[in-house]
Amino acid sequence: MEKLYGGMEGGGTKFVCAVGTGPDEIIDQTRFATTSPEETLEQAIAFFKKHDIQAIGLAPFGPLDLNPASPTYGHISATPKPGWSNADILGPFRRQFNLPLAFDLDVNAAAFGEYHWLPENRSLDSLVYFTIGTGIGAGILINGQVVHGLTHPEAGHMRLPHDRQKDPFPGSCPFHADCFEGLANGPAIGQRWGQPADTLPPDHPAWDLEANYIALAVANVIYTLSPQRIVLGGGVMEQLQLFPLIRRKVHEILNDYIVSPTVTGSMQAYIVPPGLGKRSGILGAMALAKNSIRS
Ligand code: ADP
Ligand code: ZN
Repeated sequence: MEKLYGGMEGGGTKFVCAVGTGPDEIIDQTRFATTSPEETLEQAIAFFKKHDIQAIGLAPFGPLDLNPASPTYGHISATPKPGWSNADILGPFRRQFNLPLAFDLDVNAAAFGEYHWLPENRSLDSLVYFTIGTGIGAGILINGQVVHGLTHPEAGHMRLPHDRQKDPFPGSCPFHADCFEGLANGPAIGQRWGQPADTLPPDHPAWDLEANYIALAVANVIYTLSPQRIVLGGGVMEQLQLFPLIRRKVHEILNDYIVSPTVTGSMQAYIVPPGLGKRSGILGAMALAKNSIRS
């Protein structure tokens, strides 16, 4: 029988837990609301206890302490989410399970999932996964591994040119106002246009402006990391009309400076929606679990 892995994707509004061998075989799955850390983690632990699993991948929202040498390794760091600052995520699992436990940021798990489970990505050695939803984050994968570095990348907070004449919206980020996240997350779209992002029609000018910001961020990532593929996921990217707009704008911004057939062509296979759809995060958490046994 194939080995079973557990995955936990911990979001600010809901947690998803799954057990299976991979994308084709999820034998059990559950989701529940994010309440207090104690109650939420207890529910996750109770779910995994029902199964004979080999390893668990934990992929909560951040920011996280990913440094194994730190006394607060496995904790969430300072977060605006009430009750969750300094919450110990890994500790309760360590106390309950004598199993390999992988711990990484939700968006890092999503990047790793897209790489690990998909043959078209597995042949690459670099990939960037952006999630554009309530927040904006990026998982950066280089040589088959997600980048941690100092803490972990926070590419969602990069600065972008902001033409206040064209877009007077001051930005929604509590730390930087008009960083990428502040200009382009779901709440920013809602506040700028006075109605929730998911209610704006596909031909609304909101999407051209949104594509501008995303294209600027994507171009910055192309210049700095030279990734072989860029995956764009999260609730906002359910507006599929954004993809051709972003590809065209990235092409204009690069202005033929990067000489590679991958970006001088249509970019259809370069800037793509998640191959795992909405399951990148949870399947990525399972991939981290699987990988923790091998490494
Ligand atoms: P989260 O980031 O909370 O994990 P999502 O990635 O679904 O979850 O992001 C939610 C945000 O994305 C909300 O701010 C919402 O406005 C926006 N969003 C969700 N669905 C859509 C949609 N179909 N079109 C545009 N925006 C959407
Ligand atoms: Zn910011």
